[in-house]
Amino acid sequence: MSAKILSGKEMAAELELQQTARCVELNKNGIHPCLTVILVGDDPASAIYVRNKERACGRIGIESRTVRMPAETTQAELIAQIDALNADNSVHGILIQLPLPKHLDEAAALMRVRAEKDVDGFHVYNSGRLLQNNPTVLPCTPRGILYMLKKSGVQLDGANAVVVGRSNIVGKPAALLLLRENCTVTICHSHTRDLADITRRADVLVAAVGRAKFITADMVKPGATVIDVGINRVDGKLCGDVDFDGVSEIAAAISPVPGGVGPMTVAMLMENTLEAACKASR
Ligand code: NDP
Repeated sequence: MSAKILSGKEMAAELELQQTARCVELNKNGIHPCLTVILVGDDPASAIYVRNKERACGRIGIESRTVRMPAETTQAELIAQIDALNADNSVHGILIQLPLPKHLDEAAALMRVRAEKDVDGFHVYNSGRLLQNNPTVLPCTPRGILYMLKKSGVQLDGANAVVVGRSNIVGKPAALLLLRENCTVTICHSHTRDLADITRRADVLVAAVGRAKFITADMVKPGATVIDVGINRVDGKLCGDVDFDGVSEIAAAISPVPGGVGPMTVAMLMENTLEAACKASR
């Protein structure tokens, strides 16, 4: 293996120290940052993600509240809960843990969160601001990806960046952030022709597909930086969208799964919550 490992775990741990110090300062000024997660139903993966967020809040000193609602919650009940949190001045960040049960309207729920409390950055106001190159709250995973790239000193200006995946929460905002850094960006998806020809031109390759080991060594340019966003389970073991063993032989740098983008996503959620608390106090 020759690639440098971009350890999100280490970067997130370093950030946590700074965030803890910031939280102490905020407390001194009478500001007590608070993140509230709404968890509907009993999806086991969601429960793990929520627990990770609660623990991160605990380590930093952010107050963490979790509103647990049953799987049969109606849209009206969910909206009423969001409204109550919107009106609660002690709550700075509201996160609706996705996916919601199928009968609920996810987009309507996300839209209902007050844009200033939308620490996930999924509200159309916040995604619109990003689209217009004047961002307010950045979505956590794309923000984490950019942080990793910058922190590792990857040359972005003028680089060819390829993002595989076009979801509203990862692919599209990641592409927009790379565009802001003056990358030449290509977005690929399930209808893309000759995918490997495109990915092989990438200086920076972001894989957000949701398919285990989908990006193989023959799809990667020697010396590229590869960011693996995927979280997949194969035989109970966590793995990314990138075939780590093969790709790490030819890439210059690669983020692992686990220990790559995942911890950075949580770190950026903490960042967004601290920023929301600061803004609310102004
Ligand atoms: P989505 O399912 O919403 O999007 C997947 C994207 O991959 C779609 O745009 C889809 O194209 C594209 N795609 C699917 N198959 C192919 C293919 N054969 N060739 C090219 N493109 C393809 O997933 P998300 O964006 O929400 O998440 C992506 C992955 O990242 C998942 O594994 C998820 O678990 C993980 N994730 C990790 C996070 C972290 O913190 N590390 C946070 C969020 C997500 P099309 O649009 O045409 O269907």
